[in-house]
Amino acid sequence: MYCSACGKEIEDESTFCKYCGTSNDKKIERHNVSKTSGMAIASLVLGILGVPLLPIIFGIVALKSIQRQPNQITGRGMAIAGLILGAIGFVFWIIWIGFAIYAGRGYFMPPR
Ligand SMILES: [Zn+2]
Repeated sequence: MYCSACGKEIEDESTFCKYCGTSNDKKIERHNVSKTSGMAIASLVLGILGVPLLPIIFGIVALKSIQRQPNQITGRGMAIAGLILGAIGFVFWIIWIGFAIYAGRGYFMPPR
């Protein structure tokens, strides 16, 4: 790699530039590489699959961890998308359960 201050080529492993003594910021950045929250991914995937409630829980957990470490964890958009999909899935699930109960009542209890 090249020194960000003087532009001379330095070893990848060196913490300081041996020519000008500038600390190697790129190495520090590389150590703090932000990663996508696994919870956010899980939330989005479960949301797409139409699983109710779980994407909402995972989404909230992901958003809280992103809020705590905004530089280390990404995936805010995914968590929000998962939350919305989870909410939509939940509404459909309620309608479906309601319909199943309604239809089941008619089926199991014949009208008098
Ligand atoms: Zn330098």
